[in-house]
This record gives sequence, structure tokens and C-alpha cells, in this order.
Amino acid sequence: MTIVAEKISRSEELIALEDQFGAHNYHPLPVVLDRGEGVFVWDVDGKRYYDFLSAYSAVNQGHCHPKIISALVEQASKLTLTSRAFHNDCLGEYEKYVTSYFGYNKVLPMNTGVEAVETAVKLARRWGYRVKGIPDNQAKIVFVEGNFHGRTISAISASTDPDSYGGFGPYVPGYVIVPFNDLAALDQALSDPHVAGFVFEPMQGEAGVLVPSDGYLTEVRNLCNKHRVLMIADEVQTGLARTGKMLACDHENVRPDVLILGKALSGGVLPVSAVLADDEIMLTIKPGEHGSTYGGNPLACKVAIAALQVLKEEKMAENAARLGEILRRELKAINNSRVTMVRGKGLLNAIVIEPRNGTTAWDVCMLLKENGLLAKPTHGDIIRFAPPLCMTETQLLECVAIIRDTLQAFE
Ligand code: PLP
Repeated sequence: MTIVAEKISRSEELIALEDQFGAHNYHPLPVVLDRGEGVFVWDVDGKRYYDFLSAYSAVNQGHCHPKIISALVEQASKLTLTSRAFHNDCLGEYEKYVTSYFGYNKVLPMNTGVEAVETAVKLARRWGYRVKGIPDNQAKIVFVEGNFHGRTISAISASTDPDSYGGFGPYVPGYVIVPFNDLAALDQALSDPHVAGFVFEPMQGEAGVLVPSDGYLTEVRNLCNKHRVLMIADEVQTGLARTGKMLACDHENVRPDVLILGKALSGGVLPVSAVLADDEIMLTIKPGEHGSTYGGNPLACKVAIAALQVLKEEKMAENAARLGEILRRELKAINNSRVTMVRGKGLLNAIVIEPRNGTTAWDVCMLLKENGLLAKPTHGDIIRFAPPLCMTETQLLECVAIIRDTLQAFE
């Protein structure tokens, strides 16, 4: 009897390690990456892929952007963390830079997107009690159906996706949900005098890149003014040039009262998030009432300044707007019967794949991977297309060809 030893590839070995020793809270595509540069990533076998997810829009500036990496390396060898028990020589410079960049009086630095959302909710409640005059412990916050604001108990308490909130109760009280893109329902919800804030994504990323009707943001602004409710824009995913403007709210020249940023604020180098607001809101939180060990650390400050500079210097919003038009036009022109919808703004896009003959969006992504392009399905039938914003038109058209050929196999 001969025993044939099965050869296990390096990728399989590494995936097995994760499977054995890591929590099973993700279901990644079976590809193991070990290098990234610009719009490309490479797997451990040296195969090159176009990255069409950009780490959920954290790597807007492109993988390992040299200017951001050099800011990281330079600061890392000097001072990384002091905590906020002491001052450091980078925080003030960063605070001045980021507040003037976005036009707010103050910034509160955090790390992950969900922490910034939590911070915004706390700020809204505090403002509700101290400024609006809501009776103690009765503040309400309004959210939108289909939202995604992260994974903490507070964020999932606002979620309408059973995969996110199911089996994790009890939930945070005082949250109200309105349907997506429904201004009449919002008007009604905000008329409750106990409402302090309206938290929303200008486009719903995780829900599958849902774009509200033109004029929605303007009307949200009007309704928040009418009912004296804080307009709180979660631009963790839509922000920082992704949708073809620096902020998605800029499409309608609307200024939220509270702006939440994360992800690409560091160009994907380390977790950096921020909440921006004016003094009337921000100064309701006093020393000792909120914070984070890593929030505002010198490394994050230097990296965020570089990441924000790169967005403007390399005109990434303009590039996203221009390439986004081309991408949607070309995707629609593919005219594949499995693709029932193409939608998005700038370089935040999605296609909807009709499940047929036992194949789904997952199978399409697996074949895209074989063909050298990485994208991830969401909600079963949606594939998000969000490449780094440093992509060129030639590269984009090469990607369209990969997508066209791949889809052809599923007709
Ligand atoms: N808010 C939005 C709109 C997001 O898309 C995300 C993450 O995808 C978050 C918040 C949470 O960010 P993080 O995963 O950094 O906590």
C-alpha cells in the first residue's frame, strides 16, 4: 500500500492556523496576503491582485503610501504613546490641522470607527441634557434602518440586522429607528422633544452601498434645524474622498453638527478616528468624563496629518469622482443578465448579482480572485467595488475587463 502525502500549500497552512486559534467571527475569501502597494496586494505565493475593497475603505490613499509610511516610521522611532495624562508635541498640531481642514471648532480623537460613533452618541446625549434641556436619562437618538455603525453593544443596539444584534441583548435604550430615505418618518421622529441627535450614514456602505435620493441630505439638515436635533454624520466609510467629494455631505454642501471620521483618516496604517463639532457641543464633556488610552497618540497624529495631506495633494476626491463615472458606465455596458443593479457614487459602488443555478455573489468573488481581483460579497447578493483612490484610468479599465470576463462565466 502506498501512502500519498498531500502537499499543503503555505496559504492553506496559514488559513488553518487562523481557523484553529482565532475566533470564527469572519468568513474571509481564501486568500492570504503579505504585501500591498498602491492599488495592488500580493498573496504569499506572489500572485498579484487588484484590491477592490481597500480594507472597507480604510486604504483610500493606496496600500503603504510612501508619505504616510514615512510619517509613521519617523514618529515611531521618536515617541509613540504618552496617554492623555501628559501633553505631547504632536496633538495640538494635529488638532489645529484637522479642525481647519473640516471647519469645526474642536476635535475629539479616538481610535476605531465604532469608538467615534460611541463618542458622538455620548456627546449628543450630553448636549441634549445640558443645552437642549431634555430631562435626565430620557434622551433619544434616532438611527436609520439598515445602518452599520460598528460592533459594540451601543452600535448593535441601533442595528436592524439580526446577524449584528441577534443574541447579544439586552440593548441600549432610547434608540429610535426610521426607514432609509424616508423624510416624513424622520420629521415625525425628530418632533419628539426628547430626541437629541440623528445619526446616519450619508450613503449606507455596509447595507450594500445605498444612495439616498438627491436632496435628502439638505432636507435632513432642515429637519434637524427645525426640531433642534444634532445632525450627526457617520462618514467613517463615505468620508475622505471615497464618494468623489472630501465628505459625502459635500455633495449637497451640507454641514453636519457632528462629523464622525475613521478608516482612511490613517490611510489604513493604524486605527485613527475622530469626532468633530463646535464648542457648544464639544465643551459639554469635561476632563475625566470621556477618553481613550490611545486616542490622540503622537503616532496617530502624524499619520493622520500625512493621510489628510495626501488626499488633497493627489486630488483623490476628483479622481474618485471621474473614475466612478467611468466604472458605473462600463459596468452597466457589460449588460450581463446576472447583474440586476449597478449603483454608487465616486469609487464606492456595488453590483447586485442574481443567484442562479446554485451560484451566488460568493462564487463570482471566488472567480474574480482567480482572475486577479479581490472583492467581497455582502448580504448574499451584493458585491462592493471600492478600489484605492490612487487608481489610474488604465488600471480601472483593466479591472472592468476582469469583471466582464468573470461575469461572462456565470451567464
Ligand atoms: N461606521 C461606519 C459607517 C462603518 O462603515 C464602520 C465600519 O465598517 C464603522 C462605523 C465601524 O468602524 P470600525 O470597524 O473601525 O470600528
